[in-house]
Amino acid sequence: MLPGMSSETITAGKVVTIHYTLTLDDGQTVDTSKGGDPLAYLHGAENIVPGLEKQLDGKPVGSSFDAVVTPEDGYGERIPDAVQQVNKSAFPDDAELAIDMQFQAQDEAGNTVMGTITAMEGETVTVDFNHPLAGKTLNFAIEVKGIRDASDEEQQHGHPHGPGGHAH
Ligand code: ZN
Repeated sequence: MLPGMSSETITAGKVVTIHYTLTLDDGQTVDTSKGGDPLAYLHGAENIVPGLEKQLDGKPVGSSFDAVVTPEDGYGERIPDAVQQVNKSAFPDDAELAIDMQFQAQDEAGNTVMGTITAMEGETVTVDFNHPLAGKTLNFAIEVKGIRDASDEEQQHGHPHGPGGHAH
């Protein structure tokens, strides 16, 4: 081992910082960390989609690679039954409803779900409760910027603290 070289690779329990760009098959860029701080996540804690976490496993600092993640290993397949028609009265009176508007709601089990308004006609609002990226193949361009051990507190919380992580 030469001085100054690191043998650090990504394993469970490490806080990893990455720069990423996410594009879809149609070439549309959905999200990127470029131009801002890299993202910090706790490896093995399901902070990121499973297909990406799997492909980061074992990678060294400084590596750059492309990761293709299928819907199955990403945000899941689209569920046709998750598109529902609801009455306008289900929304707060002061809500200004518009097509493509996204909002959070609770499902019957009390989980928070994201809904997107896809159509409005009279009193009827069509809401798609699929994740906006459900059914999509995700193309990530990844650069591994840093790897460090997680603190005990970070392990307990299941996410990193500090730059690029949770601030609390
Ligand atoms: Zn925390």
